Amino acid sequence: MPIERERTVEEARFYNPLEDFTQDAVEIEIREDPLTGEQVRIVPDVFPRPEDGERPDISAFVEDDEGCFFCPDVVEEATPEYPDFVGVDRGSVGEATSFPNLFPYGKHSNVVVLTEDHFTPVGEFTTDLLADGLACALEYVHAVRDHEEASVGSINMNLLPSAGSSVVHPHLQTIVDDHGTNETRRRVDEERAYHDEHGRTYWAALLEDERDGDRYVGSTGDVEWLAPFAPIGQWHLRGVTDVIEVPEPDDDVVEDIAAGLETVFTYYDSLSLNAQNFSVHVNEGAASPLVVDVVARPAFDDQYVTDAFFMQTIHDERVVDAIPEEYALEAGEFF
Ligand SMILES: [Zn+2]
Repeated sequence: MPIERERTVEEARFYNPLEDFTQDAVEIEIREDPLTGEQVRIVPDVFPRPEDGERPDISAFVEDDEGCFFCPDVVEEATPEYPDFVGVDRGSVGEATSFPNLFPYGKHSNVVVLTEDHFTPVGEFTTDLLADGLACALEYVHAVRDHEEASVGSINMNLLPSAGSSVVHPHLQTIVDDHGTNETRRRVDEERAYHDEHGRTYWAALLEDERDGDRYVGSTGDVEWLAPFAPIGQWHLRGVTDVIEVPEPDDDVVEDIAAGLETVFTYYDSLSLNAQNFSVHVNEGAASPLVVDVVARPAFDDQYVTDAFFMQTIHDERVVDAIPEEYALEAGEFF
């Protein structure tokens, strides 16, 4: 069963002051996500990006660790301890430390501090560091699911304020509950509908369809990476697995995901993009394998401009300027 991909191109016309007021036209490409139908507009030059090779100098900002609750000598006094069912006060794998989120977004919501260092630039996260952090998050997901019904979950990251992080110190945030976010709900519903109709996962069909195409980026172990047809955000790269159960913290796929994240981060660093969000979706059910979404956010400096404006905040509409078929090729060189 082929994957349906809807795209429309329209033109916005005007007399351009930059071209002596001659008539000009800008192409607006509208695409729909083949699974959820969510729309993205691909329009030129909307995403603020540093000149090639010019990394913003944020050293003064990121070196100031005054009052950081996640630094090693403070973390045990300043962060909460888990409720009894988790079985430990705080979690720990390698350098990573986990504890409940003092500002939770769901019934079960934790924080995993990834590093002892106060700041790590996007290009310097190692596979080991990320794998330990993910393992720490997965321990928590297991503890919650052993305790009660909580069918949807995600392990997420904001790096730097332009990606929504109020704390510079690198950390993950896990959310597990029975509600899910809007995106999770749409996705899980459509994944189930696809699975019911076709007897296999949407993601297996998607990979089969994309593997030889111009959006396929590469693989890290058992995770295959592509640039989605209808990106959620800038330079969106997606890792797809066939892992249905929540993996054990020491499962090989955890390291495969971490290796992919490290590679994507290295790619973003090459574009001078120092901020990102990612989510690892860990939802229950045979229709919903583990999927990872990573997007670049505006490079953080002292005058960054957010890439979330009325389109995203009120209209729930996605807007990007990077074209998947173009950056997939570029990203592929890093895999
Ligand atoms: Zn710190």
